[in-house]
Amino acid sequence: MTSQRSRDRLVIQLREMGIRSESVLASIRSTPRHIFVDEALASRAYDNTALPIGHNQTISQPYIVARMTEALLETGEPDRVLEIGTGCGYQTAILAQFARQVYSIERIKALLANARERFQSLNYRNIKSIYGDGGQGWPENAPYQGILVTAAPAKVPETLLSQLAVGGRLIIPIGHSGQQKLLSITRTDDGYVEKHLDGVSFVPLRTGMG
Ligand code: SAH
Repeated sequence: MTSQRSRDRLVIQLREMGIRSESVLASIRSTPRHIFVDEALASRAYDNTALPIGHNQTISQPYIVARMTEALLETGEPDRVLEIGTGCGYQTAILAQFARQVYSIERIKALLANARERFQSLNYRNIKSIYGDGGQGWPENAPYQGILVTAAPAKVPETLLSQLAVGGRLIIPIGHSGQQKLLSITRTDDGYVEKHLDGVSFVPLRTGMG
């Protein structure tokens, strides 16, 4: 069930659901999602569903990972990308195939430790991750051409907007559970342009450390 056939079937589904970017579809096909979930769930790794990763968190649904990545890449391949909410590291690994350098922040230590082991064993050399509160961003490496947030705050954090490069893009779910919307916010010379992408369901973005 972790075979190439089940990965191909997932890609066909994502295409049917409207994912158009061939390079994003290729990255989903080639990234071993079963390595990012518990062994007991490996047989479901290529189903188009979110799965538990422990600590009350989930690995995002492949469709959502593809949708967010595609939306982020619309402005071209970014030099530096910041991800908030490393979780199991699957979305991070997808981003690492498009950006020169990916920075990722996670507030649950045990999840971060597991994700780091996976990055190492799969030989990703362009991912830097830290334990911290992603709501503060990672100012040392700013500005970012892309920021992708995989947990939902009630409103867009100003701090993250301020760490976006001009022409850069923030992809973020906003709102309380049951009524979240996925937004794409592009920084322009004189402000921000906001676009509504989808209705979504993410775990909440927490404040402080776990
Ligand atoms: N992209 C991840 C999604 C995991 S769920 C994956 O596919 O596995 C969202 C993650 O965001 C959780 O791991 C949660 O601990 C983390 N998170 C929530 N609030 C956070 C914050 N303020 N800073 C950093 N990480 C946060």
